[in-house]
Amino acid sequence: SAASDSPLLANLNEEQLAAVTLPAGHALILAGAGSGKTRVLTTRIAWLLQTGQATPASILAVTFTNKAAKEMSARLSAMLPVNVRGMWIGTFHGLCNRLLRAHHQAAGLPQSFQILDTQDQLSAVKRLCKQHNVDDERFPPKQLQYFIAGCKEEGQRPGDVAVHDPDTRRKVEFYQLYEEQCQREGVVDFGELMLRSYELLRDQPQLRAHYQRRFQHILVDEFQDTNRLQYAWLKQLAGDEVGGLMQARGSVIAVGDDDQSIYAFRGARVGNMADFVREFDVQRQIKLEQNYRSFSNILDSANALISHNSRRLGKNLRTTQGPGEPVRVYESHTDLAEAQWIVDEIRQLVKNDGFARQEIAVLYRSNAQSRVIETALFNAGVPYRVYGGLRFFERAEIKHALAYLRLLENPHDDTSFLRAVNFPPRGIGARSIEVLQDAARSAGCSLSDAVTAVPGKAGANLGAFVAKIEVLREQTQGRNLRQIIEAVLEESGLIEHYRNEKEGADRIENLQELVNAGESFVTQEGFGRDAVALPLDEHGQALRQSPVSQGIDPSQPLLDEVLPVLQPAAGIVDIDTGETLSPLVAFLTHAALEAGDNQAQAGQDAVQLMTVHASKGLEFDAVFIGGMEEGLFPHENAMNDSGGLEEERRLMYVAITRARKRLYLSHSQTRMLHGQTRFHIKSRFFDELPESALKWITPKQAGFGSFAPQGSGAGYGSAGYGGGRGQGGWGGAKTETFASPPVPPQKAAPGHGLSAGTAVFHNKFGEGKVLAIEGTGDDARAQVNFPRHGTKWLALAIAKLTIVD
Ligand code: ATP
Ligand code: MG
Repeated sequence: SAASDSPLLANLNEEQLAAVTLPAGHALILAGAGSGKTRVLTTRIAWLLQTGQATPASILAVTFTNKAAKEMSARLSAMLPVNVRGMWIGTFHGLCNRLLRAHHQAAGLPQSFQILDTQDQLSAVKRLCKQHNVDDERFPPKQLQYFIAGCKEEGQRPGDVAVHDPDTRRKVEFYQLYEEQCQREGVVDFGELMLRSYELLRDQPQLRAHYQRRFQHILVDEFQDTNRLQYAWLKQLAGDEVGGLMQARGSVIAVGDDDQSIYAFRGARVGNMADFVREFDVQRQIKLEQNYRSFSNILDSANALISHNSRRLGKNLRTTQGPGEPVRVYESHTDLAEAQWIVDEIRQLVKNDGFARQEIAVLYRSNAQSRVIETALFNAGVPYRVYGGLRFFERAEIKHALAYLRLLENPHDDTSFLRAVNFPPRGIGARSIEVLQDAARSAGCSLSDAVTAVPGKAGANLGAFVAKIEVLREQTQGRNLRQIIEAVLEESGLIEHYRNEKEGADRIENLQELVNAGESFVTQEGFGRDAVALPLDEHGQALRQSPVSQGIDPSQPLLDEVLPVLQPAAGIVDIDTGETLSPLVAFLTHAALEAGDNQAQAGQDAVQLMTVHASKGLEFDAVFIGGMEEGLFPHENAMNDSGGLEEERRLMYVAITRARKRLYLSHSQTRMLHGQTRFHIKSRFFDELPESALKWITPKQAGFGSFAPQGSGAGYGSAGYGGGRGQGGWGGAKTETFASPPVPPQKAAPGHGLSAGTAVFHNKFGEGKVLAIEGTGDDARAQVNFPRHGTKWLALAIAKLTIVD
């Protein structure tokens, strides 16, 4: 048949083929690292589309990182002449954002709601602590933040948390206050994105029914690392639960590897796999046992290591590739020497063995370890890139600029107000801010609305700030995103401020990069191009109809309400009126969800540095794992209970299995961390690797480090979990924005004949005047001022605008 002849299916092994061509129904694909799970998932989507079993609109695929989503979309568009724009492929957070933008009213949010990243969330918590005189010794803000995120991951609102002791009661009260603050300010944190969209589906039966009908094919990668709430969210989309069993119309395919479950500390539940099998009555479980990634010395090492874990579902992995090079192990005296060895080896790989630098990764257990390696690479002139360091959008100067931009959209965003109000300094002191905060609290209004209540000079300064923002808002009406950002950088005084700062040049450069980011967001990265995710006809041409009326199942009744057309980056286009989010809101959303994987230097051939957590799902020709020491890897915080140790071992398994051709392990007898030099014993994981696969570069020594002072005060506590992106912080690797897949060059844009100043007529909004145009062709949109309805962004492909002479 046409289906089995498809070139898509060539090169798959028997089990992979079975998985790709599974008939309708739920399935679990349980398989080890490098066995082609992600590839199977992508190929299945392509196959479903190609054989006409699915329309793009009927597919929802959840990936672990934005990078993975992008890759999947890119591979799909390479396999098929299909426009991937209409498809829901993304991370949990990205998909939730999309859902909430589309149904913001039902979700009780303003359409232009802003997203708090982890940093913003912490400052919001700190602010609230101050306001309510919370004892920060007893309740450190970080702990409160952790508590709130933990509750949300469990799907709990303040009223749902079981309270057994006074401390918990205080925390729950705080949680309640925090929620009220967020709601007042129109902001959501990462946990809220997830919880709010879960509740939306739970509480809106019509909406739920619509999406259940729509998403006939739900596919989830890295299922072992889903948490309780994410699983519950998936169930809402899949169908209704009756007596503990899911009644689902479509198919849910979950793909995972219990041995790679590494986010338990963030609420991930391997148990979701067993629940899935039971609740969905999964009849098909497929194991993939052939590893296509690594040479056998590497694979044997991974297999031997993970066999020391007791709680396993049990899988085998084999490879037909030869042994390859042995795993090289290096013991050094100092962390500096270790870093030097890594750099020397990297240079050899590049110079003698022709490895591309971007195909070489240096992995570490804790972020703090990267500094020494970075220094060594820098001194040797080897280009490198750190994943999960400070993201572009997290840099202080960028956050300042974003705060101004956010205030343009929403003057009641108090977090942004506080960030911007006295930066650059305008003589507004902490005392004045306190007075302002008190006034706002007693009036129950935003800071911006409360400025008139502050007396004297302080009040005048605050008033001037609010006026400045208002003027800026007026001035930027009708301007495009680039012009808005440029105006904000100038008018806010940020550029001026940094020009006078000794080391401000870098920061100004970054601010200019923000202008570029805005520009490319509109022209290529997302907004303009993804503006209208229309359903496609059989030729891949966009149909100008709602996906609802395009229905997956025409026999089903449609919702009464008109559902919006969804678009990845920006949110929605109202199908009736053509109204869309403003490019600025879309850009700010992008900034909050963006995970730094398309930073400026992304194209450069650079060595990749990242934590082991951040490396999940990726592969490299050569992998270095440094700091293989007791207390570091396995991490001190995890060594005291067997559950923790098993998670560390899975982490090591993930690290090893990233390597295709070469693997290098190293440890050092002394290490400087957090300002102290400590003696270290080599990791117990070395004893769990097969001697036959290893090659010790330095003579194997009986632990020099056994003289290490036990329980010395320094400790690694502060290196703990959650220290950084990818390693833990909520919204780490998962918090990325939508994929912006490459799209074939567009046909010449049909002229719409509009320009700034054109008078137009809209069926619903009446007469108005065009202020600005962004995007081209089918993605073009216009900002139009309607005297009676205010200023709106309209998608020209949908909005029926006529020119009034
Ligand atoms: P991980 O558990 O690390 O996420 P995975 O199971 O998702 O791994 P993939 O990333 O899909 O594995 O595949 C690993 C590598 O093997 C990829 O480079 C992929 O292209 C390749 N591969 C998978 N299946 C085949 C095949 N049948 N023939 C050739 N190469 C394959
Ligand atoms: Mg994978």
